Amino acid sequence: MTVALPILVLPVAAQRYSCHGCGNCCRDFTVQLRDADLAKLEAQKWEERLGERVTVEFRGRRYLRQRADGACVFLMDDGLCRVHKEFGFAEKPVACQLFPFVLAPDDAKTHVGISFACQSVRENKGAELRSHLSEVDRMSRALPETRLATHRPFLADAMAAGDGELDALAQICDRFLARTDVTLRDRFDGLAWLAASLGKAKLAEVRAKRFSELLTLLAAALPAELEHLPVEPALPKQVRMLRQAVYARLEDVQVNDAKSRGRLRTVLAQLLSSRAFSRGKGRVPAIARGLLAGTDFRTIDAIPPLSESPDHEAIDALLSRYARATILGGRAWGAGYYGWPALRGLQALVLNIACTAWTARALAASRGHAHATLDDVRDALGRIDRHAGRAPWLGSVGERLRLEYFRLDDGLRRVVRAGI
Ligand code: SF4
Repeated sequence: MTVALPILVLPVAAQRYSCHGCGNCCRDFTVQLRDADLAKLEAQKWEERLGERVTVEFRGRRYLRQRADGACVFLMDDGLCRVHKEFGFAEKPVACQLFPFVLAPDDAKTHVGISFACQSVRENKGAELRSHLSEVDRMSRALPETRLATHRPFLADAMAAGDGELDALAQICDRFLARTDVTLRDRFDGLAWLAASLGKAKLAEVRAKRFSELLTLLAAALPAELEHLPVEPALPKQVRMLRQAVYARLEDVQVNDAKSRGRLRTVLAQLLSSRAFSRGKGRVPAIARGLLAGTDFRTIDAIPPLSESPDHEAIDALLSRYARATILGGRAWGAGYYGWPALRGLQALVLNIACTAWTARALAASRGHAHATLDDVRDALGRIDRHAGRAPWLGSVGERLRLEYFRLDDGLRRVVRAGI
């Protein structure tokens, strides 16, 4: 008999969530279906009743069909779900039931993280997360793979983590990110520096207790160490690479569109758009259903970094809550992030923050704001986190190479400082 792993709901006391029925998660999100979901939808006889197809097949997988505006075929005008209304919560596809929770099993427990693609999560509205424990437990039992022990995540490439090492790393990062005496810019720069320093250390010789001691030493050296190792402004090539990373995080292939246009045309259109985005000249090309439509890249460059926003305190609280929730909720490495080792996962988290900062400034420019407001940052974070750990292309070799590139010349430190 297989015993389900215990679940650990995100231990970030400051994070809350309840569904407020905004319906945003049912617009513009692609929902992949499992066999059990397909069987349920078939038994509910939707195609007979609605007279239209409710699923679509793309590259060998089946998805909920979306309408032309990106909304799920089951989303009603009042923002509610038709499946939920007619058959009840437990009859919806499992991915819909689970959202915004994200389950990441390791060798001993299933971490329950939370997606900031959800508006209520970003706005921190609702009940304490632990109050959702029994509901998450019930839903996760419908997804046996989320409760089966898998391997312990690696610390670095070809280096499995020893007992307690990942917990120690998570705790050190969490404590550093929670420091209110260090600026937000220094905290994220510090995280990039910590990941790079650990990447250079001969970790094979520093295991278990000595690894924890090394972490404590490195964390104690921050943020003073950053003063001794100041970085220059980001190089033009690094800024170009950052825009490419943003493009990869914003672009969302709509299953219906891709099918009707054909794969070749979809790939070609993406390639041209991606090139124009990374060149960063003239107007922003079409992306994510008109997000940033027509904004001039120069107006984006003119928006100051987030620290100079009048909303900087609220922005600080949001981004540090996000980073802490991502690390402690098991979404920064291992099963929660493409099976990646912890050090690469930390770098990806810093890059996601840099991309959020760029996108927030871009949204501010497109809305005619002089600074990025809290709403600009919330919207940007929602966009970036909807793909993080989920979109296959962000776990690809190309993305790994991008992170390798950012390791050179302090690239990650420079781009995160530039935006924050
Ligand atoms: S099935 Fe219901 S909950 Fe799932 S995306 Fe569609 S409208 Fe939303």
